[in-house]
Amino acid sequence: MSFITGYDPEVGAAVEKEFARQRRNIELIASENCVSEAVLLTAGTVLTNKYAEGYPGHRYYGGCEEVDVVEAIAIERAKKLFGARFANVQPHSGVSANYAAYMTLVKPGDTVLGMNLDHGGHLSHGSPANFSGKYYNIVSYGVTTDTNVIDYDQLRDLAKKHRPRMIIAGASAYPRIIDFKTFSEIAKEVGAYLMVDIAHIAGLVAAGEHPSPVPYADIVTSTTHKTLRGPRGGLLLTNDEAIAKKINSAVFPGAQGGPLMHIVAAKAVALGEALRPEFKTYQQQIRKNAKTLAAELLKHGFNLVSGGTDNHLMLVDLRKFNTTGRDMEKLLDTVYITANKNKIPNDPQNASLTSGIRLGTPAVTSRGFKEEDMVKVAELIYLTASDYQNKADYIRSEVNKLTAKHPLYE
Ligand code: PLP
Repeated sequence: MSFITGYDPEVGAAVEKEFARQRRNIELIASENCVSEAVLLTAGTVLTNKYAEGYPGHRYYGGCEEVDVVEAIAIERAKKLFGARFANVQPHSGVSANYAAYMTLVKPGDTVLGMNLDHGGHLSHGSPANFSGKYYNIVSYGVTTDTNVIDYDQLRDLAKKHRPRMIIAGASAYPRIIDFKTFSEIAKEVGAYLMVDIAHIAGLVAAGEHPSPVPYADIVTSTTHKTLRGPRGGLLLTNDEAIAKKINSAVFPGAQGGPLMHIVAAKAVALGEALRPEFKTYQQQIRKNAKTLAAELLKHGFNLVSGGTDNHLMLVDLRKFNTTGRDMEKLLDTVYITANKNKIPNDPQNASLTSGIRLGTPAVTSRGFKEEDMVKVAELIYLTASDYQNKADYIRSEVNKLTAKHPLYE
C-alpha cells in the first residue's frame, strides 16, 4: 500500500484511509465481507493484463494457456461446491450474471415474476429503474402483511393469473429460509422457468446452511463477494446442457467482452477455500452471530421484520425508536459501526429515508467475532438509538476494544 502512496499520493492516501476505516469500523453491511489475504493478493496479480475473450480452450486471443488453467479450476470448483453440472464464472458482477440469465431464458416483453424490491427483492428482479423493469413485463410478489415471510399463496395466484415465462426467487433483504421446492412446483404448474439468485446466501448454500436451489432451478445466479467471501463478481450454474450453452453465449459475446482474469483467479481461490471444512464452521458461525444479534436486539426492544433471522441478516424496524434508517445509518457511522438504511415491507418512508436498517454478520464473522461480541454489538446499537448524546464516546471506545480484539489483515 505504501508503494501506491509513494507512486500516486492522491489515490494512495484514499486507499490507506479506506483500509484504516475498514480496520476501525464494525462492518455490518449484509452484502459485504472481508476476503482472505490469498484472495486479495490474487485479485492484484498480473492476470489483470490478459485478454481472454471466449472460454478455456476456445479463445479469441493467443497466450491464454495459463488463464485457461485458472478458469478451468474456477469452473470445476464452482460445480463441485454447489453440486451443479455446469458453471460460468465470468460475470463481472451479480447484475451481469442476472442479465445473462434473462438473456438465456426470456425475451424482451416476456412476463417475469420477481420479488418486490420494497419487500426484500433486488433491483435486477424487476425494478423500473433497472434493465429488468425496462425490458420485461414485471409482476411482483411479496411477503405476507402479518408474518412478513414470502407469501407463497400470492405467488401461486399471480403465477396462475399472469402465466410468466420466468419466476425469480432470491432476495437482498430477506431474513428467512426460501422454499425453493415450492417455487419450482409453482413454476412447473404454470410452465415457467425458475431462476434463483443466491447472491446473498451463496456461502450458506455452499456449506449446507441454507437449502440449495440447484436441484430445482433452471439457472442459479450469484455474486461471489457476499457470504461466499470471494472477490467482487458473479457466476451462473445450471444442470441443463442446452441452457449451459446458451448461458455461455449470453455472457460472452452477449453481455460482456473479455473476462477479468485476475478476478476469475481470485474466484478460484475463494471457491477452493469454500470447499474446505473450515468454511462450513465459518458459515455456521455467521448464522450463530446473526441469531445472537437478533435475539439481543429484540431484548433491547427493537422490532425485527419477520421477528428474527434464519440466515446472515436481519431487518430492524426503527419506528419504535422514532428514527429513520437514514438517520440511524448516519449516527452509527459516527460511532464506527457501518450499516445501511433499508426499506421495511410496506414502509411509510421513501427509499432515501426508510424506516429500517439491514444488519448482517458475514464481515464481522470473517474478523473472528463470536456470540459474546454480538451481545456487545447489540448493546452499542441500542445505545446509539436510545442515548446517543450521552453515550457516543463510550460506544466508540467499546467499538475500538472489539476491533482491537479481532484485527483485520495483521
Ligand atoms: N442479486 C442480489 C440478490 C443482490 O443482493 C445483489 C447485490 O446486492 C445483486 C444481485 C447484485 O450484485 P452486484 O452488485 O455485484 O451487481
